[in-house]
Amino acid sequence: MTSAEEPAPTRCWCCDREYDERELVRLGAHPEVGICGACAVDIRQRAGQRQDELRPTWGTTVRTGVRRLREGVIARGWHQRPLIGPILRRINRHLP
Ligand SMILES: [Zn+2]
Repeated sequence: MTSAEEPAPTRCWCCDREYDERELVRLGAHPEVGICGACAVDIRQRAGQRQDELRPTWGTTVRTGVRRLREGVIARGWHQRPLIGPILRRINRHLP
């Protein structure tokens, strides 16, 4: 049971993990939908990939290279390693 000051745990609509309300981002037209920060970053990256597929620009080549690099890191599990993992995940938040 939570006190009146503590928000009740809620679930991310994307990964279904529990988070405090403060950790979720709500959609504007559908505030009932909350998404955690990690899923929001993932959705932003997937939306960028979709836009690149629909309307390629000069930046598409750069972003495609970054995506392939990211996929290689994930395939090797480097993002889950104890020392380099947190650094790679932090870098990922700032990549297209
Ligand atoms: Zn999530």
